[in-house]
Amino acid sequence: MAKIKKMCKAAKDDFKENEAAIIEEVSSAKYICRKCLRTASNKKLLCDPKKITSE
Ligand SMILES: [Zn+2]
Repeated sequence: MAKIKKMCKAAKDDFKENEAAIIEEVSSAKYICRKCLRTASNKKLLCDPKKITSE
């Protein structure tokens, strides 16, 4: 699995290099960043994560 920096800080180059990993993060997102509104399955990738699942 490619390494992703914080989703919040992902730039165009990061997307090119880690497209598959980023898409996986977004498609299985469980957290949303309250600052940037980006999403990820791993809250460590967000700067201000909030859980969006209803478990
Ligand atoms: Zn953020």
